[in-house]
Amino acid sequence: MSGITRRGLFKLAGAGALAASGGKFAFADEATPAPTSSGLDLPGTFDGIKYTLPELPYSYNALEGQYQEQALRIHHDRHHSGYVKGANKTQAKLTQARKAGDYSAIKALSRDLAFNVSGHVLHSLFWLSMKPKGGEMPDSLAGAMTKSFGTVDAGKLQLAAASKAVEGSGWGILAYEPLSRSLVIGQVEKHQCLALLSSIPLLVCDVWEHAYYLQYRSNRANWVQAFMSIADWQFAAKRYASAKQL
Ligand code: MN
Repeated sequence: MSGITRRGLFKLAGAGALAASGGKFAFADEATPAPTSSGLDLPGTFDGIKYTLPELPYSYNALEGQYQEQALRIHHDRHHSGYVKGANKTQAKLTQARKAGDYSAIKALSRDLAFNVSGHVLHSLFWLSMKPKGGEMPDSLAGAMTKSFGTVDAGKLQLAAASKAVEGSGWGILAYEPLSRSLVIGQVEKHQCLALLSSIPLLVCDVWEHAYYLQYRSNRANWVQAFMSIADWQFAAKRYASAKQL
């Protein structure tokens, strides 16, 4: 399909979406054409007009044992959904601010944008960072882990330690850092603080209390150990392969 035709179709789809929603949370002045697909895509996260809640890549009870159905359902349907709504609402308010030339709320809106869009991105990555029974780490990623952290186990231990030690609500993150062309492990507080700009997250562990309290109560360390046992290293390896091409 040519770029022009694709764009035309998205404009039509966008007009329909706007009409269907009454324009309520739509923020784009014009529909955004779908980018060329890459291994970094997060399907179902944006429909050309607004952010959308992606479906889980497995059933709600697929991670039972490490992640019980009720906890997963609430986390996805309520918490992640809340960030999607917040991101669209903030974008709509920014559109209004531009139209009115009124930037009196720009500080709060900028903060809300970072919080909600980052929350949407991280949760979209999080569901894909796990899979039933986990899986072996592909050689490509194991090689990068060894080069960056000494050994694969050292990298895994650092990721678990970083996740357990996040202050307050946040995330442990394995990422590709393009300046050094190596892997890094970071902590993110809330969804956006302490982020390493330009690094590309490969695997993320949610350590907000809402992620584990229903099942693990106050024992975050047990939750992180459970996460490590179902981490989808093939997903991380696929993202690594795409990230290092950038
Ligand atoms: Mn969460």
